[in-house]
This record gives sequence, C-alpha cells and structure tokens, in this order.
Amino acid sequence: MSSNKKILILPGDGIGREVMSEVLNIINWMTKNKSVSFDISERLVGGIAYDKEGDSISDTTMQEALDSDAVLFGAVGGPKWDNVERHKRPEAALLRLRKEMDLFANLRPAVVFDALADSSSLKTELIKGLDILILRELTSGVYFGKPRGVEKISEKEEKAFDTQLYTTSEVERIGRVGFDLSRKRSNRLTSVEKANVMETGMFWRKIITDLHKREFSDVELNHMYADNCAMQLVRFPKQFDVIVTDNLFGDLLSDCAAMLTGSLGMLPSASLGSIDSKGKRSGMYEPVHGSAPDIAGQDKANPLAMILSFAMMLKYSFDMSEDAVLIEQAVQNLLSKGFRTPDIKKDNQNAVTTKEMGKAVVEELNILSGK
Ligand code: NAD
Repeated sequence: MSSNKKILILPGDGIGREVMSEVLNIINWMTKNKSVSFDISERLVGGIAYDKEGDSISDTTMQEALDSDAVLFGAVGGPKWDNVERHKRPEAALLRLRKEMDLFANLRPAVVFDALADSSSLKTELIKGLDILILRELTSGVYFGKPRGVEKISEKEEKAFDTQLYTTSEVERIGRVGFDLSRKRSNRLTSVEKANVMETGMFWRKIITDLHKREFSDVELNHMYADNCAMQLVRFPKQFDVIVTDNLFGDLLSDCAAMLTGSLGMLPSASLGSIDSKGKRSGMYEPVHGSAPDIAGQDKANPLAMILSFAMMLKYSFDMSEDAVLIEQAVQNLLSKGFRTPDIKKDNQNAVTTKEMGKAVVEELNILSGK
C-alpha cells in the first residue's frame, strides 16, 4: 500500500452532493482494486454550512483544507441563500479557500470526447479530437488590485475604478506552471495579454519572454493578444495546446473554450498553489458547473465533470497519471457506448440517471482493469 493521501471532500449544495456521491464510489473502487489508500474526511461548505454552522465555511473546515493534500469540491449556492449577507454567501467559501490555500493557478482543460463531437456549436471537423488547456492566474490582477471603488467627483458625477496589477513574481510563478505543463504535453505555450494597449500587458509579455529565455527555451512560445485569442478559439481551436493568461482574460477565455466542448456537465477544473518547503503543492479540484438548483434532487445531474475533476486530482496532486488516464478512458468508452445523462443526450437517445452513470463508470473500470 502506498502512503495515505489526505483528501478533504466538500460536496456543498444542490447537485454538488449528488455528483460527489459518484466520486466516492470510484474512490471505494480504487481502494479495493488498486494499491492505494486514501484518507478521506468530509465537511460542509456553502449554503448548507451557513444553515448548520453559521458561515459558508467554518474555521475548522478551512484549517482541514489547509492540512489536507488535496480538496475535492462539489458546488455551492442556490436561491435559498440569495439574500444572505455578502461575506457569508455560499460563493464566499470558494473565494476563501482560493485565497487561504493561495491557489493561483487555475487549470481548465477543454477536451472534446469523440462521441460528443457533434454536441458542440462549432462544426465537428473543427473540434473533433480537441484537447487544450487554459491556465488562468487566479489570485491577482484586476479582481484583486487596489485601489478600487466608487468615488464622487462632482455634484453630478461619480467614478468607478478597478486596478489591474501584477508583480514580477506573480507573472513568473504562473508562467512557470504554464511552461511545466507544456513540457508534459506537446511543448507549446501561448501567452495571452493585451501588450498593445495595457502596461500590465507589456509587463506580462516581457516577464514571460525573459522566463522562457532563462529556463524554458526548449518550449515553443507564442504571444497573442487576448481579443485575437478569443477569435482564434472559435476559428481554429486546435492550433492551441496550453494557453496561459491573467485572471480577467482567463475568466473569459476559459468559458469560451469550455463551450467548444458542448456541455457544462463534462468540464473539470483544478486550482493549484505553490510548492511548499516539504515539496507539497496545494490543490483544489472541482467541476466548472454550479449547484444547478433547477435539477437538484432529481437524479439528473451529469456526474462526469466531478469524476474527471477527481482524475485531475490523481494526476496533479498524487502523481497517479495512469489511474487518471484509466478513469478518462472509462468515461470515453461509456460515451462511445451511448451512455448519456439528459444534458448530453440527443432527442432519439435514452438518458441514464446520475447514479446509473456513476455505476457505469465503476463497471467500465472493472472491464478496463480485467476484474
Ligand atoms: P449552474 O452551472 O449551476 O447551472 C447552469 C445550467 O447548467 C443549469 O440549467 C443546470 O441544470 C445545468 N447544469 C449544470 N451542471 C450540470 C450537470 N452536472 N449536469 C447537468 N446539467 C447541469 O449555474 P447557475 O444556474 O448560473 O447557478 C446556480 C447556482 O450555482 C448559483 O447559486 C450560482 O451562484 C452557483 N454556482 C456555483 C459555482 C461553484 O460552486 N463553483 C459555479 C457556478 C455557479
């Protein structure tokens, strides 16, 4: 048995709980069938934590997240908590986790599974086989820069302002993650900013260029303006492999790339922090989708984004790429066999439930590993 891997499970609200259950079945499968043991603990987060513990994330839960090797997060929120005070709202838990775990690198793969290639709004030939990764800086830039606010400038006029701000080390650390990821894929990196019109854009480009020369000259580096990148993503997305960009552009471009693949229910993500003195990198893994109150409690949610987020955890936190690939292969096979939850089915196809899809993944894992 390899050493215990400490995972904190935070299912959250709505379909977060339903899709997380299916991951727990996969974890049980891995414990039984693979020589790996996980040390799992589960806590409340989001609206349910607000109801039962008075805040969307308690200090105890936050400390457990900091002490764990990786956090698996479902989804939070729902209309029930729309009027809760801002700093206690379900989404505040997510921001606190990102901030205190210093999760500065957000990885959003956009992978098109062959069997779903015709669900995209783009032509099949443009996106069949697509496998790109958007890396977004998550803890700095215009969403956090100070000063920000609204001020009166005359009797009739006010002004509102945000500050786009990056330091050398912030750009270098996200750049390094980008180059490292590129080396593990096809050795190509596109760095995206607006160096034509923004000081921070010129700064970003210079730092990435210097870092490339100094440490990563074996990687093919391209620079692209963010507006052009948005166009290129829908014109010819397969030209990209890894894209690294700032918080604001990453927010927009990762959603754009995600939609190339067809469904929210299929999209995983990872957020990574720095490597500490013990060599540990903090990581939180979560589906891109929210708590989907419109389908919560109906056994209709697609659990694959959550399951693929767990696969990312195996790859990036536990160096278990083979097991991650096994799970991805199981998902691929099921889709080819026609398994579809309602969000990804066509009119003439039958839908399976959340539980049936989760069970099918476990059965496929058995088939793939000859059990
Ligand atoms: P959402 O992602 O929850 O849902 C958008 C649409 O996609 C809905 O029609 C939903 O039914 C569908 N959908 C989402 N995930 C699905 C899945 N796995 N399977 C099948 N269909 C799926 O976004 P929303 O409706 O804008 O937000 C609902 C709540 O979730 C809000 O409170 C919002 O703040 C919160 N939210 C949380 C997160 C998070 O926890 N990371 C992210 C986004 C939204």
